[in-house]
Amino acid sequence: MADNTKRIAVVGGGLVGALNACYFSQRGFEVDLYERRPDIRTLEHVRGRSINLALSCRGREALKGVGMEEMVTATGIPMYARMIHNTDGTRKPILYGKKDQYIMSVDRRKLNEDLLTEAEKHPGVRLHFSHKLVSCNVDTGEMHFKDASGKDLHTRSDLIVGCDGAYSAVRQQMMKSMRFDFSQEYIPHGYMELHMPPSANGKHAMETNYLHIWPRNAYMMIALPNQDGSFTVTMFMPFEVFEAIQTEEDLMRFFKEKFPDSLPLLGEQALKETFFNNKALPMVSVKCGPYHHKDKLVIMGDAAHAMVPFYGQGMNCGFEDCLIFNDILDQTNNDFGEALKKFTAYRNVDARAMCDLAMYNYIEMRASVNSKLFLLRKKVDNF
Ligand code: FAD
Repeated sequence: MADNTKRIAVVGGGLVGALNACYFSQRGFEVDLYERRPDIRTLEHVRGRSINLALSCRGREALKGVGMEEMVTATGIPMYARMIHNTDGTRKPILYGKKDQYIMSVDRRKLNEDLLTEAEKHPGVRLHFSHKLVSCNVDTGEMHFKDASGKDLHTRSDLIVGCDGAYSAVRQQMMKSMRFDFSQEYIPHGYMELHMPPSANGKHAMETNYLHIWPRNAYMMIALPNQDGSFTVTMFMPFEVFEAIQTEEDLMRFFKEKFPDSLPLLGEQALKETFFNNKALPMVSVKCGPYHHKDKLVIMGDAAHAMVPFYGQGMNCGFEDCLIFNDILDQTNNDFGEALKKFTAYRNVDARAMCDLAMYNYIEMRASVNSKLFLLRKKVDNF
């Protein structure tokens, strides 16, 4: 008979950790989820990465497995094509696939909150916020956390599932304690998010159902629609380009030359405030392995395979990890030793390939998307 009396500790209550808690509790395990931040459902502002994300088929399948696909997609906005913005103000759409195929823009914070609320519905799940993992023992499953007041908590679990993101503390412990391969690469570009408010009639200021791109070879800007009629606009540029913009005049000159059609929509004053009050953030790609240690510990999501965001697959792949691990637990009758081995064997090669594809798309989105060959390949007849 399947042994689901074991206790699982999920470290990290971001997107992947929260979804994993839903999957594990659905199988009947006792789940303790430890998250470094306070409960984001109680916070006015949440610091962190992108405001919205592209959800694709891969991620939707994983949400379906815990009965959340419909709820999440009900508030998402379909994006059927890229909309390329040229410097002369002209625009052209490039479909992603067939006319009815799309990826979906979803709100990161709402998605994370909904996943936490869903996990909490299960009686076997306990959520511990403001608990930061300090260290863990990869052989015994013992863990040391610190809470917000600095108090120490020592506990142990039958299985530790590290979903604590690109700078994972669980992964650091694996690097210290076992034979573990690790490589990371920072790209020369940083990113900064800008806000494009709705137009006067409350509607989106640009065509709604598109992922808008301003490809400029060495750098680019993109925009994804939000439910409230706004767009979240993200600039991706080499750090030197960010740093070269020192004054408001520099910024206006730069936008008028490179992204002229976006300027009236972003608003000059708002753009100046956002640009000079924020820092460009780095992007890192991580490859490592194995993803597990014996029957005690496994890493998933960005902890296992952080990737640059240009393929829009970081979260989607992390969600897919949860679905795949759930299938493997079915196949192995909840035998952690077998399941963890299978997970690394099956997932490591795919995740490394996704990291490479994301890196390739880094060039495609800002440069190749404008090439004649690309346009011939993607020729579309609408709009
Ligand atoms: P995270 O979201 O980083 O969550 C990790 C959690 O662990 C956090 O809540 C953190 O507080 C917690 N934590 C960290 N350390 C500890 C500790 N020591 N103890 C306890 N808790 C800890 N992906 C897509 O699929 N589509 C997109 O369109 C997309 N766009 C992106 C745009 C940008 C600009 C960026 C930067 C990324 C984008 N991604 C996208 C990638 C996506 O954001 C990540 O892949 C995803 O957030 C990974 O989820 P995660 O839960 O593994 O890690």
